[in-house]
Amino acid sequence: MLQERHRITAGLAAILVGDDPASQLYVRNKARACAEVGIASFEHRLPDGCGEARVLELVAQLNGDDRVDAILVQLPLPRGIDARRIIAVLDPAKDVDGFHPMNVGHLWRGEPGLVPCTPQGVLLLLRSVHADLSGAEAVVLGRSQIVGRPVAALLLAADCTVTVVHSKTRNPAAHCRRADILVAALGRPQAVTADLIKPGATVIDVGINRVAVADRGRRLVGDVDFDAARRIAGAITPVPGGVGPMTIACLLRNTLVAACRRRGLSDPLPL
Ligand code: NAP
Repeated sequence: MLQERHRITAGLAAILVGDDPASQLYVRNKARACAEVGIASFEHRLPDGCGEARVLELVAQLNGDDRVDAILVQLPLPRGIDARRIIAVLDPAKDVDGFHPMNVGHLWRGEPGLVPCTPQGVLLLLRSVHADLSGAEAVVLGRSQIVGRPVAALLLAADCTVTVVHSKTRNPAAHCRRADILVAALGRPQAVTADLIKPGATVIDVGINRVAVADRGRRLVGDVDFDAARRIAGAITPVPGGVGPMTIACLLRNTLVAACRRRGLSDPLPL
């Protein structure tokens, strides 16, 4: 639509530092998704020992590159490079992951900004089964900057009553059992068992864990014991295939949003 109506090709630049195989796979998948929808992708690889100054220099170059509407810094960064310092110098208008302090502030204030991709995917999945989230008891398991906290902010903005459970929470099971909406982002394989789920609850499993399977190498599982939980939950997302693809879709959406806003056009696909 952007190309047809406005002759714009949105551009996403990815910065990959080091040779972590999982990060390489993520960046490859993101580039493939861009190609499928006509977004230009630019991959910038830096060697492990390149140093923080080199990464800062690359970010400054991409901030000023007019072909680039969105910049993704693949995390985690190697030791010796402070992710917070790198994110702080991103142009907030190109911060496709929504991690820049300015975008974090916009999110908590309920103002337009760029919303982190995985939390945005979680909200869209919830909206696909709940026309109205107002007043729902939502429990978020995990309080990380990239998942738990922004999910909590979005649920609060959607008028849920939100509880955030973390490693210091007393009696987490009691919180889980009263949740109409349970979002699991712990990074603990199958930690959410069926007895923690209120009958009929909507369960969103953000976790991606690689576990060993006897004689069959490794497989991906979520933070929820899916086979048992699906019998109790009203709706539940699988791993793989639930939140993961939504994260990629929201990355593409954010790239288009950034491309439109930079040119003074209205948002495509409003949330
Ligand atoms: P993280 O930074 O390790 O945070 C985990 C959070 O869970 C922390 O807040 C921690 O509490 C809390 N926690 C851990 N064990 C707990 C326990 N037993 N009881 C209560 N709270 C506990 O992880 P993350 O980056 O948020 O990621 C979470 C999961 O989502 C991982 O499996 C990750 O791979 C996955 N993920 C998936 C996507 C996707 O696209 N689908 C995207 C991002 C992440 P404290 O803060 O007190 O330590």
